[in-house]
Amino acid sequence: NGDIVIVGGGHAGAQCAAALRQYGYTGAMAILTDERDAPYERPPLSKDFLNGVKTFDQMLLQPLAFWADKQIDVHYGQRVESVDAARHEITCANGECHGYRKLIWATGGRARRLHCEGSTLEGLHVVRTRADVDGIRAELGNVEHVVVIGGGFIGLEAAASLRKLGKRVTIVEALDRVLARVTGQALSSFIEDAHRAQGTQIVLSAKVASLAGERGRVREVVLHDGARLRADLVIVGVGIEPAIEPLRAAGAHAENGLVVDASCRTTLDDIYAIGDCARQSHAFAGGAAIRLESVQNAVEQAALVASHITGRAPAKPSVPWFWSTQHDLRIQMAGLSAGHDDFVIRGSREAKAFSIAYLKDGVFVALDAVNATKDFVQAKAIIAKGIRPERAALADPGVPLNSF
Ligand code: FAD
Repeated sequence: NGDIVIVGGGHAGAQCAAALRQYGYTGAMAILTDERDAPYERPPLSKDFLNGVKTFDQMLLQPLAFWADKQIDVHYGQRVESVDAARHEITCANGECHGYRKLIWATGGRARRLHCEGSTLEGLHVVRTRADVDGIRAELGNVEHVVVIGGGFIGLEAAASLRKLGKRVTIVEALDRVLARVTGQALSSFIEDAHRAQGTQIVLSAKVASLAGERGRVREVVLHDGARLRADLVIVGVGIEPAIEPLRAAGAHAENGLVVDASCRTTLDDIYAIGDCARQSHAFAGGAAIRLESVQNAVEQAALVASHITGRAPAKPSVPWFWSTQHDLRIQMAGLSAGHDDFVIRGSREAKAFSIAYLKDGVFVALDAVNATKDFVQAKAIIAKGIRPERAALADPGVPLNSF
């Protein structure tokens, strides 16, 4: 029986355990994870781990000795299936029961799968865990044509990695532009052009009708308009479902994620939720409750819980940020651009070094930077101030953002 039990050994769970020790918590602590590996970073899965540049060891969040040194018991291959909030007990798939004083739910999400004819053929993959990417890499030797379903970050990054490995790649996106949920039209079209320039085909406004196979393995992706795309391997990158069923069944309030308060407490006593599975009211979303899928959010919510448990004052919410690398583009985003009503481009798209500043009612709310790290860093520092920059000055890359 642990004092603090953390379910999920991903970015949020591992970071929370480390922060608890850092903030002086000395009680017993256990992490239960259904994976077989020590806590690791997911971002390289679709980038340098998929294309073979990084080894798994380079993705570990902490050196292996860290967990024993800090007296954090990590239980591998343990899937928590139910929670009894009244008795403060959890039960794992193997029947083991653990008591807790505080429970931290940090289970992230499961990659969504397709549910159409042919969706159980071999050769279909998602990119969420090390095991997923090991599975893709094991098949690549026999693969020439890859279809990536979904033009979000993971699909685009996977497409870039596979192009780098010489595969013929087609991206199929249901909406009329890539990254439609996270950015504006200007960046979407720039990124589409960049991928096409690298030889990737992009099919927009296209829905998958079925997958056709031969001897149990996928051979084609069939679109609603009848088009058939050759596919020796398919990557499905269509988002995640937060992994919250045991807590929902235990009575926690959930709505596209576990609803948590400013300290990441769920509606059940002594149970917190953090990371991709938590939905929280966010100062940078005008107070709306949102679920952010980013390392920065996982780390920040982990620190909030560690502060709450150890009685430290919580840190002020910081500007949300995110990054992605695709081909020769380093994309960095600060703030939340959803709901912007104006934007200004700084720098040169031709030179592949520019940023897009987003305004809402004249207020600078977010910035997307492409190979423009200085703008990104300065934007992160000033977005919280709610400034109203003059458009002409904002458009001049010679005027540093921190001068506003
Ligand atoms: P996770 O890291 O998913 O960890 C949850 C863990 O809980 C998993 O190990 C899971 O198996 C385990 N688990 C689930 N249910 C149970 C259960 N019932 N019992 C026990 N264990 C359970 N973010 C960025 O900011 N920048 C990027 O460039 C970026 N790239 C990404 C690329 C990929 C391919 C992926 C998948 C994500 C990327 N992200 C990126 C997002 C970022 O990795 C996530 O936001 C972050 O990992 C969230 O951490 P988490 O701990 O909430 O969830």
